[in-house]
Amino acid sequence: MIVIVGGGPAGAAAAITLARGGAAPLLLERDAATREKVCGEFLGADAAAALATLGIDLPALGAVPVRRAVFAAGGREGRFELPFVAWSLPRLVLDEALLRAAEAAGAEVRRGVAVAAASEDAGGWTLRLADGGVQRARHLVLATGKHELRGLGRGAGAGSIGLKLPLAGVPIGDAIAVLACAGGYAGLQPRAGGGANLCLALKPGAPGLAEAARDAAALVALVSAGSRAARDLLRDAEPLWQRPMAVAAVPYGYVAPAESRAFRVGDQAAVIPSLCGDGIAMALGSGIQAARAILAGHGAATHQAAWGAHVRPGMRVAGLLDSALARGPRMVATLAGWAPGLARWAARQTRLGSPGA
Ligand SMILES: Cc1cc2nc3c(=O)[nH]c(=O)nc-3n(C[C@H](O)[C@H](O)[C@H](O)COP(=O)(O)OP(=O)(O)OC[C@H]3O[C@@H](n4cnc5c(N)ncnc54)[C@H](O)[C@@H]3O)c2cc1C
Repeated sequence: MIVIVGGGPAGAAAAITLARGGAAPLLLERDAATREKVCGEFLGADAAAALATLGIDLPALGAVPVRRAVFAAGGREGRFELPFVAWSLPRLVLDEALLRAAEAAGAEVRRGVAVAAASEDAGGWTLRLADGGVQRARHLVLATGKHELRGLGRGAGAGSIGLKLPLAGVPIGDAIAVLACAGGYAGLQPRAGGGANLCLALKPGAPGLAEAARDAAALVALVSAGSRAARDLLRDAEPLWQRPMAVAAVPYGYVAPAESRAFRVGDQAAVIPSLCGDGIAMALGSGIQAARAILAGHGAATHQAAWGAHVRPGMRVAGLLDSALARGPRMVATLAGWAPGLARWAARQTRLGSPGA
């Protein structure tokens, strides 16, 4: 039995690929129904290609195209055309479509089943379920995203804070705006079905963070204060939630070591700075790669080594971009406008979603 723990993009991609390969996997997802997740919901060309492979038709699901990018900080802003057509689709829609595709491919998907802990023995894995049950597994695909499973924590340490808030009344058009603000940055892009999605990555202790995490208006004010472009874009913004959704301890830059015993996928395998908008693509790519490794009889360490080697060069570029934006946001905004070729190069270098070797 191959058991996948977690039904986000990584777990679903692994389930679809395994089921298509004739493996009849079992996927355990703790949420009884698909829910919102803290995510900018930007899908680059690599995510779109992986989704097409998995049978997901983005336009048919109502995804909206994103063709341009704006970087803004203070009074500076730089605009450029993306080197590919990107898409925006709410995670509620995307995650549900992927889980249904997994079921249609022949995977067993059990929702509302949380795994509390995992331990390994000579014959495979024993998974202790939160309801007191036990599930055995020959192979374990760990797709729990940012959540650590007892016995298999990443040990990634402290990290950034993520916040998400859908808005109405934002004239964002077909652009993704990266808006510098105190303690980090926000991504703003059109949301399928109307409105826009505002998503922030902030350092712990960022000024105004505590209030912004509690209050939608304070969050909009925090982003508006960071740049003239944000002020203009958010002038008539109406928050669709009273309170933003938040996630803590996001370990940007983490790459799982090759000695991993379980097949780690998605955020359990690597976490790219949100600025690049490639986490979903990497979740899909690593899920597909892990499934292929299992079908080919390779071990988890082989999968982890291949995925690490595949993502490290792009993760280095992403890390440089992230620290440049933190140290010199105005310089980054200026450069994006002066040297759009460089900005497009960086956007291409940070598309890491295709499966590794
Ligand atoms: C601020 C921010 C902005 C971002 N913006 C973007 C963006 O614009 N574009 C992009 O591509 N990426 C973005 N990302 C990254 C992206 O959201 C993640 O990389 C992606 O969701 C990872 O997918 P996953 O399948 O690994 O994990 P998840 O999507 O988190 O799914 C994990 C699943 O596992 C389940 N689970 C957890 N623990 C258990 C358990 N014990 N038992 C059973 N089930 C369990 C959860 O309920 C969940 O459904 C952003 C991230 C942040 C923090």
